[in-house]
Amino acid sequence: MNLHEYQGKEILSSFGVEIQRGIVAQTPQEAVEAAKKLTEQTGTGWHVIKAQVHAGGRGKGGGVKLAKNLQEVESISNDIIGMNLVTPQTSKEGKKVHQVLVAEDVYYPGDSEPEEYYMGVLLNRATGKNMVMYSTEGGMDIETVAEETPHLIFTEEIDPATGLQGFQARKIAFNLGLKGQAFKQMTKFVTALYKAYMESDSSMFEINPVLKTSDDKIIAVDAKVTLDENALFRHKDYAAMRDIREENPTEVEAKEVGLNYVDLDGNVGCMVNGAGLAMATMDLIKQAGGSPANFLDVGGTADAARVEAAFRLILKDPEVKAILINIFGGIVRCDRVAQGVVDAYKAMGDAVKVPIIVRLQGTNADIAKELIDNSGLPVQSAIEFKEAADKVQAVLA
Ligand code: GDP
Ligand code: MN
Repeated sequence: MNLHEYQGKEILSSFGVEIQRGIVAQTPQEAVEAAKKLTEQTGTGWHVIKAQVHAGGRGKGGGVKLAKNLQEVESISNDIIGMNLVTPQTSKEGKKVHQVLVAEDVYYPGDSEPEEYYMGVLLNRATGKNMVMYSTEGGMDIETVAEETPHLIFTEEIDPATGLQGFQARKIAFNLGLKGQAFKQMTKFVTALYKAYMESDSSMFEINPVLKTSDDKIIAVDAKVTLDENALFRHKDYAAMRDIREENPTEVEAKEVGLNYVDLDGNVGCMVNGAGLAMATMDLIKQAGGSPANFLDVGGTADAARVEAAFRLILKDPEVKAILINIFGGIVRCDRVAQGVVDAYKAMGDAVKVPIIVRLQGTNADIAKELIDNSGLPVQSAIEFKEAADKVQAVLA
């Protein structure tokens, strides 16, 4: 589950990581109030107005702007709230901005040498260890750095038995070229950041930029946080941070009815039981010349109600030209699933306008095939995987 910048910063701050302080606002009036309050708390004269959407690259899209007085806080907030922010990480349509973070300006006017670093904590799946990735080349173009000058990005792997050790924090500060007070602040920063990552059960923390001011403060200016959804039961307060306005509406609906659904770009909708079979089915569709419109795992209990719910989800996607249902009947019997497909189809009346290919294999597969074939519905059945693929290819041609 992804968080907004302001939520990520709240978590960071609760673990003692120094952050650029801010207050979130839903309207320009609230933004002005927030700015006044911040000035009282921090003494800041200038403010940064930052669009809160689940996408990076906001600065490049005009979603991060400096306001030098309260009029500018109001007018900039007015421009940003409600806009469709297009960044290198959003679709062409962009993302609607519902709220802004009004933050203290931490780049002192006249500060000739603010340094921007990059720092991320995430899991290295190849080694099975967490790692800190960091670079002196932080700021808005870290993707270019990663592509063109990858040697400028360092990684430090963390042993799960010992956690981040003191010498590792010092090594990171040293590699960033820091000395004196800044060195000390950076070791504190990394240590607190790693603790925040571990104890919040996150799968990614990305701070870009980490700012070093000319008076040697180390501050998290941005925060991109992904929490591990499987651990949310341990963090009720974080679970409440979910903002479904930022998520794919079909995926949200799927979650509500307990289906694992991921939206994709292709034209063949698929409904499968089991994640592994679902992956194999997507490969099969590719080989047949189509491309999957979604990943959908209906799970072990594919009864009529679930099949119907899954049908409805798939059909929300206007790109879908065919549906492939691929079910292995182990515990759930194929004839029950077939009955589910037939019932769901009938229940949906005219809503189903695309050809459907059903492949049922396993317990009672033969009875299931008969059920489908005798249903009088324009549903094609298949027993073999290859046969199903060929039928998909035929309807797409
Ligand atoms: P992103 O573009 O979505 O990654 O958003 P960031 O939060 O990283 O902000 C983008 C850029 O805005 C940063 O790289 C900074 O250069 C700039 N920025 C952020 N905070 C401040 C600030 O307090 N003062 C000034 N002058 N610039 C800032
Ligand atoms: Mn950033």
